[in-house]
Amino acid sequence: MGWVTNFGQGNKDQKDLLGGKGANLAEMTNLGLPVPPGFTISTEACRAYLGAGGTPDGLREEVSEHLEVLERTMGRRLGDADDPLLVSVRSGAKFSMPGMMETVLNIGLNDESVHGLAARSGNPRFAQDSYRRLVQMFGATVLHVDAQHFSRALDEAKTARGTESDLDLDADDLAALATRFKEIVREHTGADFPQDPREQLELAIRAVFDSWNTDRARLYRRQERIPEDLGTAVNVQAMVFGNFGMHSGSGVAFTRDPASGNQGVYGDYLQNAQGEDVVAGIRNTVSLADFAELDRRSHDELLEIMATLERHYRDMCDIEFTVEDGKLWMLQTRVGKRTPEAAFRIARHMRDEGMIDADEQLHRVTGDQLASLMFPRFDDSGERTLVAVGMNASPGAAVGRVVFDSATAVEWAGRGEPVILLRKETNPDDLSGMVVAQGILTSRGGKTSHAAVVARGMGRTCVCGAESLDVDAEAREARVRDGGVIREGDTLSIDGATGEVFLGEVAVTPSHVVRHFEGEEVDEDVVAAVSEVMAHADSRRRLGVRANADTAEDAARARRFGAEGIGLCRTEHMFLGDRRSLVEDLIVAEDDESRQAALDALLPHQREDFVGILEAMDGLPVTIRLIDPPLHEFLPDYTDLSVKVALAEARGEASERDERLLAHVRRLHEQNPMLGLRGVRLGIQVPGLFVMQARAILEAAADRIDAGGHPLPEIMVPLVASVRELDVVKREILKVADEVQQARGVEVDFKVGTMIELPRAAFLADRIARSAEFFSFGTNDLTQMAWGFSRDDVEAKFFSQYFEHGIFDVSPFESLDTLGVGGMVRMGTEKGRATKPDLKVGVCGEHGGDPASIHFFDSAGLDYVSCSPFRVPVARLEAGRAALDRD
Ligand code: ADP
Ligand code: MG
Ligand code: MG
Repeated sequence: MGWVTNFGQGNKDQKDLLGGKGANLAEMTNLGLPVPPGFTISTEACRAYLGAGGTPDGLREEVSEHLEVLERTMGRRLGDADDPLLVSVRSGAKFSMPGMMETVLNIGLNDESVHGLAARSGNPRFAQDSYRRLVQMFGATVLHVDAQHFSRALDEAKTARGTESDLDLDADDLAALATRFKEIVREHTGADFPQDPREQLELAIRAVFDSWNTDRARLYRRQERIPEDLGTAVNVQAMVFGNFGMHSGSGVAFTRDPASGNQGVYGDYLQNAQGEDVVAGIRNTVSLADFAELDRRSHDELLEIMATLERHYRDMCDIEFTVEDGKLWMLQTRVGKRTPEAAFRIARHMRDEGMIDADEQLHRVTGDQLASLMFPRFDDSGERTLVAVGMNASPGAAVGRVVFDSATAVEWAGRGEPVILLRKETNPDDLSGMVVAQGILTSRGGKTSHAAVVARGMGRTCVCGAESLDVDAEAREARVRDGGVIREGDTLSIDGATGEVFLGEVAVTPSHVVRHFEGEEVDEDVVAAVSEVMAHADSRRRLGVRANADTAEDAARARRFGAEGIGLCRTEHMFLGDRRSLVEDLIVAEDDESRQAALDALLPHQREDFVGILEAMDGLPVTIRLIDPPLHEFLPDYTDLSVKVALAEARGEASERDERLLAHVRRLHEQNPMLGLRGVRLGIQVPGLFVMQARAILEAAADRIDAGGHPLPEIMVPLVASVRELDVVKREILKVADEVQQARGVEVDFKVGTMIELPRAAFLADRIARSAEFFSFGTNDLTQMAWGFSRDDVEAKFFSQYFEHGIFDVSPFESLDTLGVGGMVRMGTEKGRATKPDLKVGVCGEHGGDPASIHFFDSAGLDYVSCSPFRVPVARLEAGRAALDRD
């Protein structure tokens, strides 16, 4: 096959080669729909052009051959002075992308043929309008003249006529405008507007290829993780004319409402208009119902075609059409973008209509869409004042008073004031402000900017790249492009799910979907749609879903949200607050007796915590991790305490306890605590600590059994690198288990297992499995240890550069690095099961709630994922979708 394909030869599955637009034009042609004929220059030609830095061999000739065919079909020749064929040149990559060359219409007109067109059509106004549009579009997109020069000249022409509507310009006005436009081209490019139609075509095709590498296109590809080497196709298509008069026009339509998902067509039509006029807001458009009044026949045909397309694509389609003098033409279709709510509702309706089955319904919705339906939302029933729209970088609905720097954010938040931090862009110095802000708003940067990365990491609402805001932090104000000013202290409401920024306070309502998961009866179609999909996902998925929960309340919520146990219950928070002094007692204890006294004091608190969690998860497994972080985290800050002791000494009133404590804090001080005394090492270094925790867990289980419950605790030892470490602590745990069971006269169904979160553990998982009854991959630490960086230190500091250089497509903390860290997960699982074929293996890092990672864990054969309670439904949904992929 060559570089060029006629519309009749391709089909919708050839998006890689023909781009989305070309593949769908071919599909519509083959369906027998009224599509103006044309041909597609393939993405392969684009890749060859970009690779070689010039038009590849044979392309010119092939374009000529296909052009001749087109000319014969249309009975007109490009450039014919009496009866010219006009064409459009349209870019179209596999994925629709902003930044690519905009379409140029009416190619083939020049100073001569414009008269031919006028005479042939008997419509000089139309001919002149088409010519001025060509010069305008060609000038701006192919010759890169600032489009404002043309629009200003157009405005002047309208003003001279005393009108606001382009329709009031007559043939002479438009001819004068074309002349003016050609002057603009000459002024700004130093050359005349090309009169040779074949040259026009050639230049436009090359401009499409070149546009693959514009800054905007590159930025977009990086943001959306679209590969750099796909290239774009170019479509050359015979023109049809919506600007032929009032019986002509141009329109866009959806086969269903893309915002709500409601059944029923939805669209806009503009009379006597060409191309994008209908969406450019130059005049008021009419609805499809009003279009029916204007042109019943075209309207009915359009609706019939839309029904055909929807049946054919079995999905909601988005279309472009043109009516030329009462005749309908189809110019584009594709499966339409939609809101999350619409995605769930449309999938449900289509299943009800018998168009798709339950698997396909599940396939059509995503965990991300579900997650965005679970955030609290702004109430859209009231009046809202939109001031800007940026990128939806991190979801949520945040309301607060605007501050322009972190210090002010911290100060205001400190006195209980909700704040929105508004910056041009953020950097690591802004961290303190970002932590305390309700939401973060920036005027620059995309979805991988510092603000976006950090906000998502913290679960903070963020809208970034709101370019219409001109932020002046010095002056503590932001100018809005339309003239308004936002000052420090003004209230803003930002919607991280849509990127919208509203002036003033917009009311927030809880999500219907969350109310449903919480067990409320909610009579909303979207809730019914979600619940139907969830039921099917649960019936399809192989992966279990557990939750990371440290408290009884979290555990109970997770269970309502569908968790099948707890994959990670951290115990460190049980050592904070008023229990701190007990931990201090433990650390400063210098003999066995006082150490045991300190442990005995901690025991009842621990036990109480576990009873609540085991009760909330009765009958389901609860994995409890023994204490993991370095002990100094529970002690006073080294510097603070040194100062305190020094001052006290100077006053001659030093306390003995403080001095002893200081000595221990000094002893425990570490250069790099992440690699220091923590995890299993702590259990070995501080005798009795793990034993006390194990005792608390087992006694809590005994209490639950006495109360008629069915506790299933799983004791998890963190940061194990060697099976011998595990053996040492396991021996002690089993000993205390015997004691407790004997003393209480019960048998507890418990397990002892380990986290796999060090590379060494993954490598030696076969040995570790000899001692471990289960594995849980701690992918947060495993990621840190595999890359050799600590999340807190690197994420804010240099991740944005890593995105810029394309080293990361996505943060390895957000979505599992499947090659590196995932390779260890696969290996650890295989090795572990080589020793113990039925070894239960799960994952408890944040990746357990990330859709792409869940698909990976499913393919790696894990038994379950564990994630925050709020992500549990998302994980259930994606685990169901992963099962579809496997079949
Ligand atoms: P985009 O990718 O931005 O939607 P399109 O290639 O679809 O760009 O074209 C922009 C506008 O021009 C659309 O309204 C489209 O329908 C119209 N258009 C494109 N080709 C033709 C044509 N051959 N005849 C009439 N209108 C056309
Ligand atoms: Mg289009
Ligand atoms: Mg860890």
